[in-house]
Amino acid sequence: MSGGVPLRYRPHHFLCSLGYEGKGYSPGFTANMTAIVMGRLRAEGGDATVIEVAGAADDICAPCPKRQGAGCEAGGKIARLDAAHARALNLAPGDRLTWGEAKARIRAAVPAGSLRHLCAGCEWEPLGLCAAALARLHAEAG
Ligand code: SF4
Repeated sequence: MSGGVPLRYRPHHFLCSLGYEGKGYSPGFTANMTAIVMGRLRAEGGDATVIEVAGAADDICAPCPKRQGAGCEAGGKIARLDAAHARALNLAPGDRLTWGEAKARIRAAVPAGSLRHLCAGCEWEPLGLCAAALARLHAEAG
């Protein structure tokens, strides 16, 4: 499943995909994100999936009820998240990297316990799912 057209991800969706546990903004949003994250990134060989960095609405946003064209009804908050994650992971629109490379970058650049700051304003952050996934990623790295 890693060949063909790359996935398109805005910067903050790399970490969101690490923490994703099947909860989202609507049934359509969740079905799409589950197909991408569980069906591709976390499937066997998923680390080789190529992802191109997007500067606006991406493959996760596509069916989101909050999407407005290439933008988002939560535009300012989303722009802040993208800017913070792009800086942390050194991502710019048009960059291509594999999911395995993205996880290595997260491991190197995003310390466990740092999402409260990095993801400030995200409604999912207080749930702790993403922090737990980040801690697991660091633990796997030994
Ligand atoms: S806290 Fe929000 S922005 Fe941060 S990784 Fe989780 S879902 Fe994404």
